[in-house]
Amino acid sequence: METLFLTPTDENLALAAKALREGQLVGMPTETVYGLGADALNESAVRAIFAAKGRPADNPLIVHVPTIEAAEPLCYIDKRARRVMEHFCPGPLTLLLPKKPIIPQVVNAGLPSVAIRIPSHPVARKLLELSGVPVAAPSANTSGKPSPTTAQHVLDDLSGKLHSVIDGGSCEVGLESTVIDMTREVPTVLRPGGITPDMLLSVLDEVAVAESVLRPLKDGEKALSPGMLYKHYAPKGTLTLVKGEPARVQSLMKRLYHATQQEGKSVQLFAFAEHLPAYEGCNVKCIGSLGQPETIARQLFAVLRQADAEGIDVLYSEVVAAEGVGLAVMNRLSRAAGFRTIDADQEG
Ligand code: AMP
Ligand code: MG
Repeated sequence: METLFLTPTDENLALAAKALREGQLVGMPTETVYGLGADALNESAVRAIFAAKGRPADNPLIVHVPTIEAAEPLCYIDKRARRVMEHFCPGPLTLLLPKKPIIPQVVNAGLPSVAIRIPSHPVARKLLELSGVPVAAPSANTSGKPSPTTAQHVLDDLSGKLHSVIDGGSCEVGLESTVIDMTREVPTVLRPGGITPDMLLSVLDEVAVAESVLRPLKDGEKALSPGMLYKHYAPKGTLTLVKGEPARVQSLMKRLYHATQQEGKSVQLFAFAEHLPAYEGCNVKCIGSLGQPETIARQLFAVLRQADAEGIDVLYSEVVAAEGVGLAVMNRLSRAAGFRTIDADQEG
């Protein structure tokens, strides 16, 4: 199948909406990352998503709808969940809610809950409205790779495996949605994203953050969110994080850089805008501003993909405090690095 690259004209959106209704796969821009969408109520269309991505069948999908009303046939929304939805939706937040029987098992891996999201991206909203069906959509990447934040990233991974991709430009948030489990007594963030725990506390009495957000699962530990089980967001090269006092981090990163070069490998450093002058003469990539972690979120996946395109063997990256949007950045960066971290303060 030749995948169509569509600009978001009315005509093209109608074409893509029709493809969705007919059980085909469509790549759609959202404010978080690009999604690989299919009619959530069409089992064989949903199976095609798993096949295209190489996604394990026990990793459930998020169902996208344009409004709270459109979510009502799919799940039970209590007062507390409604308050959260009214405040944060449309936006980069996914709620786990008790599912209604209409949801096919293949969508949510047979779990009692279903993940619901109302995206704010105007193109996604229009496509959802036009299609008239709930759209199951994981990130539109090959499973395990960094998520796509441009239409070209979608084609790079999945060209020929989907009907079309709609070009909506670069994603504003750049990391996947915050996932909050609203089926628990204390609502629990399973995956951090653009909507931070502090923001959620403005409408909830209590918010917990799953402990596994910043560490690998222990042997035998059950993932609250099946997606947390898998190696994720990884570039082809070996990425290691370097933490510690900034001057020590910079000096260690430079030592590691030169040592890796001596071994004849291609190496790149990821650093924040504020620290770039310290790495003069090195192959260094700016990954955003320390003072504005949302700028790191926005470009993280693109710089990981760029390093792959440049054939980089070894990568070292600075880290940001795991606070606010920094929590989401560190969740993704840690997984991209397979949790390999060096402490510059201990290395002397
Ligand atoms: P992605 O589609 O790539 O953004 O991934 C969706 C994330 O939401 C994955 O981490 C899933 O494991 C998680 N998820 C979706 N539905 C559920 C559910 N019913 N229960 C727990 N986690 C879920
Ligand atoms: Mg994904």
